[in-house]
Amino acid sequence: MASTEEINELLPQTQCKMCGYPNCLGYARGIIDDNASIDLCPPGGESTRVRLAAIMGVALSSERVLLPEPKKLFALIDEESCIGCTKCLVECPTDAIIGAKSRVHTTVEKWCTGCGLCVPVCPVDCIEIKDKSDSASNSLSSRTARQRYELHLQRLEKKHEDTFEQTYVTFDQGSKEEMRTIIEAVVARKNGNEDSGYKG
Ligand code: SF4
Ligand code: SF4
Ligand code: SF4
Repeated sequence: MASTEEINELLPQTQCKMCGYPNCLGYARGIIDDNASIDLCPPGGESTRVRLAAIMGVALSSERVLLPEPKKLFALIDEESCIGCTKCLVECPTDAIIGAKSRVHTTVEKWCTGCGLCVPVCPVDCIEIKDKSDSASNSLSSRTARQRYELHLQRLEKKHEDTFEQTYVTFDQGSKEEMRTIIEAVVARKNGNEDSGYKG
């Protein structure tokens, strides 16, 4: 009998909720505890379904409709339209969005899984999910996505103790220097100064 942890290890860790569960761990629990179907994870594609079937000892019908393999996706923020409300930043499971409050936010592509959770929360509809299949940049590995999600949950808990700003500036998202450079660059772009170095 597979464990919840073994099932969770097979899942993509985008935390996108497309399975109907609040996160990948929730779906893993659903498979183990509630006999949930193994067909519910579009970001995992057919390869994940096959691995889930194997570990659960479920036979796959040869006549089943194959799930498409997932595309590499990322969220693109229209910096001109962003009002800096921070709603997307709080929603992002991998803390892939950074920015200057009340001014502008941007996505750090290498940390973005393309889960799409930021799109519906944006009040000015300025986030678009883009296909980066032709891009040389890799998708975030499921292991790193999970680590970042666990840190994200810890930060959300901390937010209840501190003010949002205090939590925000103590984010440990990779190099703080890199984050500062990205934020400065995006603010400079918004202000019309293109000589800001980093281009996101
Ligand atoms: S990646 Fe799959 S298991 Fe994880 S939340 Fe999305 S649909 Fe559910
Ligand atoms: S930036 Fe948006 S699409 Fe990318 S991981 Fe965060 S919430 Fe998901
Ligand atoms: S939700 Fe939209 S407007 Fe608000 S910070 Fe994010 S991208 Fe900008």
